[in-house]
Amino acid sequence: MNIDEFCIDAESFLGKIDKEYYLHFAGLKKELNLKIIYDEYPQLFDAGSVNFFKDLFNNSKGGNKKKAKHLLEFSAEGYMGKRFAHIADRIANNEASSKIQIDDKEVSFRYSDIMLSNEEDSKKRSLIEDKRLKTTAEIFNPDLVQFWESMHTEAESFGYKNYADMFMQIKGFDFYKLEKEMDMLVSSTDSLYREHMGRLFQNKLNISLEGSRASDFAFIKRAKEFDMFFKKEQLIPIFKDTMRMMGIDIDNQSNIIMDVDERENKSPRAFCCTVKVPSEIYLVVMPTGGQDDYQAMFHEGGHAEHFANTKGNLDIAYRYLGDSAVTEGYAFCLENLAWDRNWLIDVLGMNNEAADDFTYFLSIINLFFLRRYAGKLKYELLLHSDKQVKGKDIEYSHVLTDNLIMKYFPENYLKDVDENFYCTNYIRAWIFEAQVKEYMLKKFGYKWYKNRKAGDFLKEIWSYGMKYSPEEVLEFLDYKGLDINYLLNNTINLLKGR
Ligand SMILES: [Zn+2]
Repeated sequence: MNIDEFCIDAESFLGKIDKEYYLHFAGLKKELNLKIIYDEYPQLFDAGSVNFFKDLFNNSKGGNKKKAKHLLEFSAEGYMGKRFAHIADRIANNEASSKIQIDDKEVSFRYSDIMLSNEEDSKKRSLIEDKRLKTTAEIFNPDLVQFWESMHTEAESFGYKNYADMFMQIKGFDFYKLEKEMDMLVSSTDSLYREHMGRLFQNKLNISLEGSRASDFAFIKRAKEFDMFFKKEQLIPIFKDTMRMMGIDIDNQSNIIMDVDERENKSPRAFCCTVKVPSEIYLVVMPTGGQDDYQAMFHEGGHAEHFANTKGNLDIAYRYLGDSAVTEGYAFCLENLAWDRNWLIDVLGMNNEAADDFTYFLSIINLFFLRRYAGKLKYELLLHSDKQVKGKDIEYSHVLTDNLIMKYFPENYLKDVDENFYCTNYIRAWIFEAQVKEYMLKKFGYKWYKNRKAGDFLKEIWSYGMKYSPEEVLEFLDYKGLDINYLLNNTINLLKGR
């Protein structure tokens, strides 16, 4: 195997995949056709490549070992992706073309999600949710059963105990240790969560958290009452202004292509596609306004800046591949500005009272997400330790409902699952971000986002692309690896005494 040739092909493949995602989710191309692209590169994802990098990883040291690990993860994920790309395409295309009937009107399945979070009438919310669940059970789940069971079989035929074991080996850290740490977070925040989330449900919907549904939370999270501060027209200027305060002028970054046009089939949630790192990065936004729209914009903007600032002369294996918790951490670093009280007052123009209300609200939402991902990890470990998915729908509903109290319905048990244990990347990224943020606050002050030195610092850590793991980046900053206590303490402190 010629590793250099493999890397060149990998870069060209990744560029085409991301371009296809961009075109489809930007509403510029109706069909998503990943299979054609996979078929162009048979040499990248055969079992031989996976075994080659597995051996290389096991038998090398230092930089070679790191590079082998990145390539092993890429080839194994790609191998699995390719084997079942035809099912994944069918699922995405079904989702894009599915319609549900609401008030005698046909609404696209994807758009019904937005309708749900904007619907004030709880009966109607339940109705939309029921119709979405029915479509999921009848149209998506048969394909999803086939998809996940095929993945599980494939992992075993590869010599791993199961799919969970496969990704734990490849990603190189202990999923069960992370599960335990998150269990600790869940139990230490139990009473805080019940108290504050319960109060939020009471105040906003006049219902108790017990017996509520996930769709009720979708409406609460939408938080229309804060819309006046998060105007659609202001989204892009505010993002650009914030970056400019840190010394980053996105208008002069010709490698970031911002697509802000409105199109019928464009994803309403912002996203970023890295077609060529660092020279061709798409930042795709369709402003709708509202706090979650701002958060998504800053999150995806964080990804875009990370990859746009990555050094072009880094090895391909370090520009595109590696531990995604790193890029997610940088994305959260910007996203979490939306609950920085100072930024809300300084940049968004909130008064003190509104800033207090809003940061309190977001602290509860933040705790929700930590507990949701703790549940997702626990459930995904159950789902992926077995070959068959039968009966896991009930487990899904139990685990998520236990952590979040509001009802999670069994129908979503295969749809609410990310491939390759991506949930661990978010969890590790939250822990990582809490530590990086602590470092920045100490070094650049509590108005760090106005400090050009903070911008220079970010540009510097971004420039290493994906080369270093979160643990390694933290070691450069004098921390001893990932430590969940920073995240846990922040979360508790934001809610204690409110
Ligand atoms: Zn992200």
